[in-house]
Amino acid sequence: MNTNLQHPPLAFEPPVDHSELCARLRFPLDEVARLDGESLQRRDAAVQALRTQIRRQGVRASRRVTARIHQIVCEASSRLLLLTEPEVYVIASHELNAFATTTSDGSPFVVLHSGIVQLLSDDELLAVVAHELGHAGLRHAVGTDENPVSYLYATHRSAAGEVSADRVGMYACGSPATLTRGLIKLMCGLSERDLRIDIDTILEQYLHPENVPAGEDQITTHPELPFRYWAMMRFAESDIYQSLTGRPGGVAFAEIESEIEDRFHALDEGMAFLMTSQIVHETVAWLGILMIASDAHVSELERATLSEFVGRIWAEDAASFARRNGLDAAHRRAVSSLENLKHASLRTRQRVHAIVREMGERSGNRERIDEILALVSAALGDE
Ligand SMILES: [Zn+2]
Repeated sequence: MNTNLQHPPLAFEPPVDHSELCARLRFPLDEVARLDGESLQRRDAAVQALRTQIRRQGVRASRRVTARIHQIVCEASSRLLLLTEPEVYVIASHELNAFATTTSDGSPFVVLHSGIVQLLSDDELLAVVAHELGHAGLRHAVGTDENPVSYLYATHRSAAGEVSADRVGMYACGSPATLTRGLIKLMCGLSERDLRIDIDTILEQYLHPENVPAGEDQITTHPELPFRYWAMMRFAESDIYQSLTGRPGGVAFAEIESEIEDRFHALDEGMAFLMTSQIVHETVAWLGILMIASDAHVSELERATLSEFVGRIWAEDAASFARRNGLDAAHRRAVSSLENLKHASLRTRQRVHAIVREMGERSGNRERIDEILALVSAALGDE
């Protein structure tokens, strides 16, 4: 007799701690920022300075002085498996906002504007506090990015971070609707006295074709609410979420993720996607030229292989550039093109490595693969 038949097993074991819980809720496109030691130190110093300022300016949530807020923070923390009480401050501001700061040691520090404390119900405030604790637990940080390409990637990643933090929020409060109700109140500033929160009706307004700005070419850091709500509802059906809430079954996480990723990519009208595709194309063209043109003779097989990977136009342009300006110039082009991919997703960076390998094999340049890969690794910092 198989007792499992009476008690179907969960797809995943319960998480052991806060960071494992956060890791399971992480949206795959929300990748952990790669910062070197020096940038980490600089960021930690800036965060510490901000924390000092907040500690002097706001009131720390505690049982003695802010009983309601403190109880909500404790409840959110315990549902998120945090072992120590997070530092939460309230500062005077009618701007409806909350934020979390993160240092490399991961200690959470949350700031609530007084306006949201007054506006939100207990459940909604718990959801928003948990969303912010999620940002801290997932080590989200604002990137300092110098050029437009890495800025677009940073914006994209920060939008992906909202999707993860929403999952943490909805997990803690138990429902996508509670967090969404809170977010709707934060957008319009109205309480139940003047607002009947009918989520579908309100979200419909944002989806109306007339209300989508023409020529919108960048996502803002908080992706649109209808998408966020839909992504939460969809994630709630996944086997990972079902297991976290003690239920067996659910739809395979991978299936749900790819659906959410597709819609996420469409949010900025595919800007980041198009840009990545363009840069990968260009990078592979330069790397391909370096691979096939280093000896004097470019064979028919080499020419055909490069065309197959990047298309005839790119292949011809890269080849004539190298003929006119020399291989050193092509090398510089390859390096600056790779620079632009430094902040692209891990998947994209791994794809470049895989393409170089395949191109080397197919064009009969197996012995050149390692040399080209070294160039890629030096720029992208992988493998
Ligand atoms: Zn957020």
